[in-house]
Amino acid sequence: MAFESLTDRLAGVFKKLRGHGKLSEADIKAAMREVRMALLEADVNYKVAKDFCAKVSERAMGQEVMESLTPAQQVVKIVNEELVALMGGEEAPRLVIKNKGQTIIMLCGLQGNGKTTHAAKLAKYYIKQGRRPMLVACDIYRPAAIDQLQVVGKQAGAPVFTLPGEKPPAIAKKALAHAKDYGNDIIILDTAGRLQIDEVLMQELVQIKEAVPVDETLLVVDAMAGQDAVNVAKTFNETVGIDGIILTKTDGDTRGGAALSVLSVTGKPIKFQGTGEKLDDLEVFHPSRMASRILGMGDVLSLIERAQDAADEKLAEETAKRMMENKFDMNDMLAQFAQIRKMGGAGAMLSMMPGMSGIDASQIDEKAFDRIEAMIYSMTKAEREDPSIINPKRKRRIAAGSGTQVSDVNKLLKQFEMMQKMMKQLKKSPKGFARKLGGL
Ligand code: GDP
Repeated sequence: MAFESLTDRLAGVFKKLRGHGKLSEADIKAAMREVRMALLEADVNYKVAKDFCAKVSERAMGQEVMESLTPAQQVVKIVNEELVALMGGEEAPRLVIKNKGQTIIMLCGLQGNGKTTHAAKLAKYYIKQGRRPMLVACDIYRPAAIDQLQVVGKQAGAPVFTLPGEKPPAIAKKALAHAKDYGNDIIILDTAGRLQIDEVLMQELVQIKEAVPVDETLLVVDAMAGQDAVNVAKTFNETVGIDGIILTKTDGDTRGGAALSVLSVTGKPIKFQGTGEKLDDLEVFHPSRMASRILGMGDVLSLIERAQDAADEKLAEETAKRMMENKFDMNDMLAQFAQIRKMGGAGAMLSMMPGMSGIDASQIDEKAFDRIEAMIYSMTKAEREDPSIINPKRKRRIAAGSGTQVSDVNKLLKQFEMMQKMMKQLKKSPKGFARKLGGL
């Protein structure tokens, strides 16, 4: 599976960080050395990996992280944000498709990287959006390439324009006129590929661009080629000029290097990614989704964000202090529930945890929280502060007031007693325990 080893390596680094309470500069430095090694092993460009780690370190050394109750999570969050930035930011870069007139897309790239397949994938993608794309065979050197385009064009449901005997710039020009007559608004040019970068091929692409007003020149690169893919992109950009990249075969055994380095090295964003051989296997490239995937985090990042929004560190500290002094009471328990609710409830929290997505969150009894809250609200101030005074008569009153049974009240009191016992045991690490109570 793609990115697996990078994901595993990063998970290992974060796990180690989590073992520390507070983070020292040395902890962060050591972690960043490992992150850099992981990136290099994933075939990320050396300079990109170095700059990336420098940025993350600088932010991680900040007060906010070092003094946080959850420093390891803060570091994960920073790594994620920097990964997203590395790949182009929150907004997925789109193709500019005109609403009126024709949009011309030229696909180029080395042979075997998926150019023809992706020409058809794009056609299908735009047909689904109600557009009328036309494919144009500009590879005149390999008859098999024209046949292949016709086959995939048919599968996609798009017409294929061919003009044997003409040179590619002339084919492109005539295709444009043809498309106008037939009402095709997106023209996708499939150009010739070579096994290696080739000056003649490059010049031909330049000539096509001189002959017709290409709106989007997209380079099709195989993600599995790693740094080679990035070098190819650099050369194409310098000689032909590209607007973006289609990163193909991200479903394969890629180590991630190309996805992470290509924008930094070429200045051009990945706009689409190919995720399989079928024509539907095309996705708009979302840097944030790719970053989550690389971090193997499920949706844990939104969980961290929610925790950050909701977590009241002061409250956590106060709770910890009260536990130390054996003063934790039912009011504190209520406050902890409110925190969990702020984070979307226990079910929502679980469903966002990595490895927990298989759990049916609806099975979690959120009502149990409601019941407990109702019972605590039915207690008097004195009862909340010292539940040991709750005798059978009081229990009946609390049950009646909260619409529960005496057995429910007994259960709650037992749970509370157990919590108090645990707290005595955990006195040594109050912050660690407060974190557990906070859910993170
Ligand atoms: P071209 O020479 O650049 O036009 O490459 P093709 O379109 O002929 O693709 C080369 C091979 O890669 C074909 O066998 C495709 O089925 C395969 N291929 C293309 N895109 C993808 C992809 O995103 N994932 C996978 N797994 N295979 C792909």
